[in-house]
Amino acid sequence: MKATTMILALVAPIAALAAPGDAEVTKWAHGAKGAFMLMFDDGWPSAFQAAMPALEARKLPADFYIIPDKGEFKVFEKVWKEKFKSPLFRFGNHTWSHGGFDGYEGAVEEFRKCTDYLRENVPGKKGRLISYAQPGVPAGRWNINKEQEAEICKAQGLVARPPFHDHGATYHLKNKDDMIAKAKKAANEGIAEYVIFHGVEVDDPKRGYQDFWAMPVKEYIPFFDEVAAMRDRGEIWVADHVSVHQYETERATAKIKKLGKTAKGYRFSVTCDADPKLYDCPLTVKVEVPKTWKNAKDGFVYVDVIPNGKPFEVTK
Ligand SMILES: [Zn+2]
Repeated sequence: MKATTMILALVAPIAALAAPGDAEVTKWAHGAKGAFMLMFDDGWPSAFQAAMPALEARKLPADFYIIPDKGEFKVFEKVWKEKFKSPLFRFGNHTWSHGGFDGYEGAVEEFRKCTDYLRENVPGKKGRLISYAQPGVPAGRWNINKEQEAEICKAQGLVARPPFHDHGATYHLKNKDDMIAKAKKAANEGIAEYVIFHGVEVDDPKRGYQDFWAMPVKEYIPFFDEVAAMRDRGEIWVADHVSVHQYETERATAKIKKLGKTAKGYRFSVTCDADPKLYDCPLTVKVEVPKTWKNAKDGFVYVDVIPNGKPFEVTK
């Protein structure tokens, strides 16, 4: 590294907030160093039999990518519909059948039927963004290119999640250490990282059968514990994929306007260029405040603000 670059790197974070009343949007929500996502593909029964209760016990959000036309899903559709009401979990599009399609028209249908199913059955804001995970279909059954896939996603309000490559639990990541390395990478590099599960081991002799690529209990439980501990230490923001996408998109063009000092504190407004109908994830604003404020953490107060809304005030 050149000497000049090094000095800039050292000075920049200090210069950003220099005096009480200064404010900035933190890289990730709540001032966490990185963002981290937990994803579960294919709607396997072990998702609600074992993964969801373990996630709920630790208040960990996650994305579940469902296939409405798949046998296992249909058998347990009633259970899934109950789970759709969870405030913690999000449900994503993994296409209607996971079986692929012939041409572009077939692809549009295969995506759209799943999108419609999610919009009809999962409670939530009308027209909201939905996460989409590309399925691994039989050979020769994915007859669209990347541009066509992106076009279909855009038309249906879908946001493509990052690729399976190098992130599959059981397939690429064999144990808790492999998985936790992804969360550590997120914190160390200030980026968004993720792990994609299929099945998890169900610790119940009455379970009947064990589904696909099950990660053993002795690996995923300590992994969830460590993810929750990293979150509690402020190292990672654990969130669903659409929230992470919204946060990054909003942050890219976010502007904070200082509206001046008030009797009790400081007033600000936050704007960004993203469409407020689709991008309504709160951004965390870090405000430098006088050292005497009792609600300050190391001289800063953190507030969550939905951009393009009303001005907000930070008070002691
Ligand atoms: Zn799949």
